[in-house]
Amino acid sequence: MPISRSWLLAAALALPGVPQHRATAQAASRAVAARPRLVVFLTVDQLRPDYLDRWARQLTGGLARLSQRGAFFPNAYQDHAITETAPGHASTMSGRFPRSTGIVRNSAGVEDPQAPLLTSRDPAASPYRFRGSTLIDWMRSSDPRSRALSISRKDRGAILPLGRAKQSVFWYATSAGEFTTSRYYGDTLPSWIRRVNARRVPQSLAGQSWTLLLPAREYPEPDSVPQESGGRDFVFPHTLSTDPARAASELPSTPWMDRLTLDAALEGLQALDLGRGPQTDLLAISLSATDYVGHRYGPDSREQHDNVLRLDRALGAFIDSLFRIRDSSTIVFALTADHGVTSFPELVAQRTGRAPPPRYDVSTAMRTLRDLLQTAGVGMDAVDFDGTLVSVDRSAFARVRIDPDPLLARFAATLRQRPGIARVDRVRDLAQRDTLRDPVTRRWLHMLPPDTNIEYVVTPVQGAYPAGAQIAEHGSPYDDDARVPLIFYGAGIRPGRIVDRALVVDAAPTLARVLGITPFERLDGHVLSRALTDGAR
Ligand SMILES: [Zn+2]
Repeated sequence: MPISRSWLLAAALALPGVPQHRATAQAASRAVAARPRLVVFLTVDQLRPDYLDRWARQLTGGLARLSQRGAFFPNAYQDHAITETAPGHASTMSGRFPRSTGIVRNSAGVEDPQAPLLTSRDPAASPYRFRGSTLIDWMRSSDPRSRALSISRKDRGAILPLGRAKQSVFWYATSAGEFTTSRYYGDTLPSWIRRVNARRVPQSLAGQSWTLLLPAREYPEPDSVPQESGGRDFVFPHTLSTDPARAASELPSTPWMDRLTLDAALEGLQALDLGRGPQTDLLAISLSATDYVGHRYGPDSREQHDNVLRLDRALGAFIDSLFRIRDSSTIVFALTADHGVTSFPELVAQRTGRAPPPRYDVSTAMRTLRDLLQTAGVGMDAVDFDGTLVSVDRSAFARVRIDPDPLLARFAATLRQRPGIARVDRVRDLAQRDTLRDPVTRRWLHMLPPDTNIEYVVTPVQGAYPAGAQIAEHGSPYDDDARVPLIFYGAGIRPGRIVDRALVVDAAPTLARVLGITPFERLDGHVLSRALTDGAR
């Protein structure tokens, strides 16, 4: 891999008074030493950036280290409309929006009946829907020795950051209470992951209680909020089942899940001998407890507060351990999230004294759609509506010689009248709108691939939840769900809090610049030069 010119320049300029030929030689050796041998890419599922400020005083571990000593962008965004886990993870290391990765929603994410899991009956999964390349592909194109390990509680959290690359990819199968992978990646589990599983840590936690890390007075949030957890088990302590298998399936909703994932990541790093050079390797970790805790108890809960503190401590221990076994000066970290989350509307209303936005219910509109299709004599499959996206099979209309446009317009008009619905947009009209001042339009345009059959998109009122939702929600194009932290730390990174707007799709091109490699396709993101030690150049 060629040493990037900017590294050489940065090193040479730091040596005033040294003869030029010696300076160049020293600079070259320093540049070799400084080029990272390991990228650690952390995705925290459902992490809002305001958590890092809200509880900053109590952060002492990894979140403190990264946000205070790294380049921290608190105003970063997943700049697409369906702020779900699969599209968010697909954007982290591809540098591209969902319209280009092809990963549009969770329900069309990684499930693939042709890729069953090796050791469990959890859903079969592969990245076959993913389009294009990611950071690990560019790294391997520059140096074929580069390797990656990706690990998560969730299949989509482990798979999508690496795109289609057949590297070491593992996730936690709830039904088995252990880490596994799918046939897309291999036919046998390596001995190190079998060793992790053989310890049966999840099962050994049966009967254990999740209690507060700090004294209760350190948590301003009320504990007893019946809105949380569907009205059951919403007060500390939260105790796992005494049955080992059930405890293992309950584990993802507790902070223990992230510790298990981080421990497995370290064990994998050592077993695979990643990060020793001379090539650069990649360790991708997606931590899911924040998402499970956030859904169950909400972003304003005492549970989320405690979970983030415990995540901070677990990440701190992880980084300390990593620095004991690898040279810290050769590691660059990135941390971001796949999406944020919206507060329970009724709890916001209690705090502000204003009426909550109405919960929206599209079931009557679905009945209207069925009536319209029946009257027109078109099959029920000709239009699919999942509550957000309206997909149209135009060939089904053509077969019976019917123009679908008036029918779709009538359906859209019905939807627009529903309480809690802000707008229903025809996709082909979006490109004519002002994408600068209208982020909802921009985020929809970033969402949909050009070859999609999605013709209308439905956007709820800001802050509104679907009728009947018992858990905290994300998935909307609004900032509560779209805004996430973006942090870089370590080799090649200039520390500082940078309030400029940044996008998650900027992460991959920025890391590529740090590594001195070139992405080999057109990206949506840009290099965040202000985060780099050689950024002024
Ligand atoms: Zn998620």
